[in-house]
Amino acid sequence: MLNAHETILLVEDDRVDIMTVQRALKKNEIGNPLRIARTGLEALSMLRGEDGFEKISPPPALILLDLNLPKMSGIEFLRELRDDPELKELRIIVLTSSNEPKDRAAAFEYDVDDYIVKPHSFDEFTRAIATILALWE
Ligand SMILES: [Mg+2]
Repeated sequence: MLNAHETILLVEDDRVDIMTVQRALKKNEIGNPLRIARTGLEALSMLRGEDGFEKISPPPALILLDLNLPKMSGIEFLRELRDDPELKELRIIVLTSSNEPKDRAAAFEYDVDDYIVKPHSFDEFTRAIATILALWE
């Protein structure tokens, strides 16, 4: 389980998916601080405290990462993050609509903790979030 004060960073461009994650966290009574980045570039700025973004400090205990993002794909974000000595150890779970084996393989190449295909129903989504967080050490 996450400690209650630890921040979760959600990197997601889709408004409906953002709301779904927020609702699923709430349903699971996860009240951790949640920061939301709409692009990979915005997420990097938040992690580094650049471009007018307040730095997430201490760094997030968990990043939930969509892969299909504007400007910089989730895989490009992973590459950049793993190249940064200050950020490379961060723990990441991919949460994506892509069930493509090549996306899955690329994500695991960058040492993600898990790869979850976004469930279609809210109940399944809630269970997926519960499973992620129950197994979190
Ligand atoms: Mg997306």
